[in-house]
Amino acid sequence: MARKPIIFGNWKMNKTPSEALEFFKGIEGYVTGDEAADYGVGVPFVDLDVAVKNAGKIAVAAENCNEKDSGAYTGEVSVPMLKEIGITYCIIGHSERREYYAETSAHCAAKAKRLFADGITPILCVGETEAEYDAGKTAEVVSTELKESLEGLTADEVSRMVIAYEPIWAIGTGKSADVNTAESCCKLVRDTVKDLYDEATAQAVRIQYGGSVKPTNIKEYMACEDIDGALIGGASLKVDSFKEIIDATK
Ligand code: PEP
Repeated sequence: MARKPIIFGNWKMNKTPSEALEFFKGIEGYVTGDEAADYGVGVPFVDLDVAVKNAGKIAVAAENCNEKDSGAYTGEVSVPMLKEIGITYCIIGHSERREYYAETSAHCAAKAKRLFADGITPILCVGETEAEYDAGKTAEVVSTELKESLEGLTADEVSRMVIAYEPIWAIGTGKSADVNTAESCCKLVRDTVKDLYDEATAQAVRIQYGGSVKPTNIKEYMACEDIDGALIGGASLKVDSFKEIIDATK
């Protein structure tokens, strides 16, 4: 099955609204929607509105959401809030959220279910730490995270979501996983989806590699059978390098 590649930036806690506007002005018209791949960027909550109004054909993702609709959850943002301003994707389970904000796979499953209910596509992140990698526990960690994060989701939902395999030791370190490791882990993600669901779901789900992806290495990853795209932190922050990433993949 031909899966449409999907490349997403993740700005993390970077850029004020005026800086976000400057970025989108700098890349205006660069993505036309006729490319062979989908392009998007995850931005901080306060930048979402500016992004939706100025991103053109670049999709906009929130970097988090709450699974509840409303209530006494100070500082949180709900899925209906995201939907109302036109958000179409939401990153969930990023390792930084898992590590610093105690986001669990059970939270991810609830968030994904709630996002689907409002037609927003989750980009679910999974990945092992360096110690787990060194101890040969990658398969165990990734399959457990996946199983728990997909709990309660239907095959149809999973076939429409995006899963980002991001080895934590490669995020923001400049130490990207070699292509064979990235491909075998993305295949592991696909095989796990197959075990949990079925072959059709595994063939449909789009799987990204994330971890120090740059304009100079993205092509190698994209050439792999089970890698359908990339989630990119640092290299998505500058207009020029994001343009180079687009050029390398369109
Ligand atoms: C990320 O933020 O998910 C990420 C992979 O960051 P970087 O590309 O900077 O490693």
